[in-house]
Amino acid sequence: MTTRKIAIYGKGGIGKSTTTSNLSAALAQRGCKVMQIGCDPKADSTKNLVGGDRIPTVLDQLRAKGNKLTLEDVVFPGWNGVLCVEAGGPTPGVGCAGRGIITAFQKLQELHAFDIYQPDVVLYDVLGDVVCGGFAMPIRDGYAREVYIVSSGEMMSLYAASNIATAIRNFGSRGYAKLKGVILNSKNIPDEEAIVRKALEEIGTDLTCIIPRSTAIQEAEAEGKTVFQAGTRPEMMQVYSDLADRILAAGEGEYT
Ligand code: ADP
Ligand code: MG
Repeated sequence: MTTRKIAIYGKGGIGKSTTTSNLSAALAQRGCKVMQIGCDPKADSTKNLVGGDRIPTVLDQLRAKGNKLTLEDVVFPGWNGVLCVEAGGPTPGVGCAGRGIITAFQKLQELHAFDIYQPDVVLYDVLGDVVCGGFAMPIRDGYAREVYIVSSGEMMSLYAASNIATAIRNFGSRGYAKLKGVILNSKNIPDEEAIVRKALEEIGTDLTCIIPRSTAIQEAEAEGKTVFQAGTRPEMMQVYSDLADRILAAGEGEYT
């Protein structure tokens, strides 16, 4: 089976990691082997898959272990076997965050992470505020083939969405990544869906799904869990299961 490689982009704080980790959990429940790679210097993408803790990042481990670095130092099994990786970030004031992602990706490749774990789906959770060389890495060189953007109806997150869409278009001929749609993570602002639909018309992409604002997210997060592991709110589990179905269906034929 071909590995599905999907990047989830969006403005900082918009809900990328929440969406990505719940999507990972939904896919794992379907029996998929998932690897989630956090590409945000915040390095908390996978925390709700590993009980609320932070796992050591590729960059931290590389700094600590140098050439002795092994896959076990950077890939951690989380809930239902989801493989968790955090690229990590530079020492504040010293390095470049984008450069850090490039280093982390090169290291994973050197260690043959995908050949060894053979995931069905790889999800990259990527900060999309600045789509510089490093943060564009997942959409270049065949890392991710499909891109989804998380946005609310707030201007700043739609602005980031538009920038990300432009970056994908600019890499069009060199990369393989295709913008597949926008996931509306609701902030409950007035006329949110209409605002987003209008913006997406201008950007030229589809609305993949609407995730309601829900206290279930914070309740689960307080226990270091996704809504699937928490298991108390079936309606939110359904939302993320539907998103997983939609993404799986939309990518069929993308890899042939
Ligand atoms: P990002 O990864 O984009 O920086 P996070 O996923 O960490 O953002 O989300 C930021 C905060 O928003 C988290 O504390 C999370 O609990 C909250 N959040 C995200 N999505 C929702 C939602 N649909 N309903 C309620 N709270 C949400
Ligand atoms: Mg995040």
